[in-house]
Formats: sequence, C-alpha cells, structure tokens
Amino acid sequence: MPLPDPLAALIKVLARLPGVGRRSAERMAVRLARDTGTFKHDLVDALRTVEDHVSGCASCGNLTLKTENPCTLCTDPRRDRTVVCVVEDPGDITLIEKAGAYRGLYHAMMGKLSPMRGEGVPTLRLQTLLKRIDEEGIQEIILALNADVESDATASYLSEVLAGREVRVSRLALGLPAGGGVSYADPITLSRAIEGRRPLRSP
Ligand code: ZN
Repeated sequence: MPLPDPLAALIKVLARLPGVGRRSAERMAVRLARDTGTFKHDLVDALRTVEDHVSGCASCGNLTLKTENPCTLCTDPRRDRTVVCVVEDPGDITLIEKAGAYRGLYHAMMGKLSPMRGEGVPTLRLQTLLKRIDEEGIQEIILALNADVESDATASYLSEVLAGREVRVSRLALGLPAGGGVSYADPITLSRAIEGRRPLRSP
C-alpha cells in the first residue's frame, strides 16, 4: 500500500539529513506520525526557534545566535588571531573545541570540492577566507579537512589558491582512519593531529 502523500513528503525531507538513509527516514516519519502527544508540536517549535534565532557567523561560519554575530569565538580576545583552522562544516568546529588543543580562529567552508557531484568549493566562503587573510594579519592556515578523496582535492585546491599569499599552510597530521576524518575522530586523536600538523607550503 502506498504511503499517504504527506508522509512520503516528510520522509523525503528527513532523508536529506546527513547520515539518514531512506529506511531511517521512514522510521522517523512513522514515529512522528503516530505520536498522539506533543512531539510534533515540540519539533515544530524547536525548528522555528532555530530558524528565528540561529545563523552562521558572518566571519567564520560557526553557528551562533543572531544577536551574537560575529560569534563569541571570533570576538574572544584571548584567542590567537594569527592562525585560522579551515573546516568543512560548522559541526567540526564544535568537535575541535571539545578536543581543547586549539586556541586560534576558524573558517567553515560549508562544503568541499566534489567533481563527481559537480560541486566546487563554495565561492562566497572562499572569498571571505581570502579577505580575512588579506585584512586580518593571518599568518597560518591549518586545513582540518576530512580524510577522503574530495577533501584531498579540496586541500590541494586551497593550497594552490593560497599560493599567492603571505601565509603558511599546513594540514592536520592524519593518523585518522581513511574515509573518516575530523567528524569521526576522538578528542585525543584530534589534539595530536593539530599538534603534529604538517606544512603544505610556506609563504
Ligand atoms: Zn565566528
């Protein structure tokens, strides 16, 4: 029996979440649909509150309150403003912060180079990064990208783009599992990877 259209539509939306396949999306949708309590309303309320109050930091891309933009990481005077850690996704910033071994600034690219999917490095985020390097006295860029083919391509591309700038570029020393990376590493592995970062190029 085919699913009612509204349920099929919900499954389609849920399946767009990272790490959620069709089967998981179906289970979530059915769980939501059969709930007779406040679950659906709670979820709608929580989503609306996020929509109303949370945005990406205009500088680093970290998720922040709309009333705190630039975010508290960008404005913290105790952080080292000469080094910027480049990550693929704002979620990676949270993971590196939890590891506690890094005191510089961040820059989330919001994606990566993916010729297979016809996607390039997001232009706007790249331009913001170059502007920050040119205007904010940044001396080192640490590429904290994941450990897969697309992330490798992204690292090479960024390294080339940054070649004309007075900035050191290094990449995390990845003892990280192949196909994994920042998003899957435990705090100790991440801390070691940051400390043991290897230079890709010097200015
Ligand atoms: Zn920020």
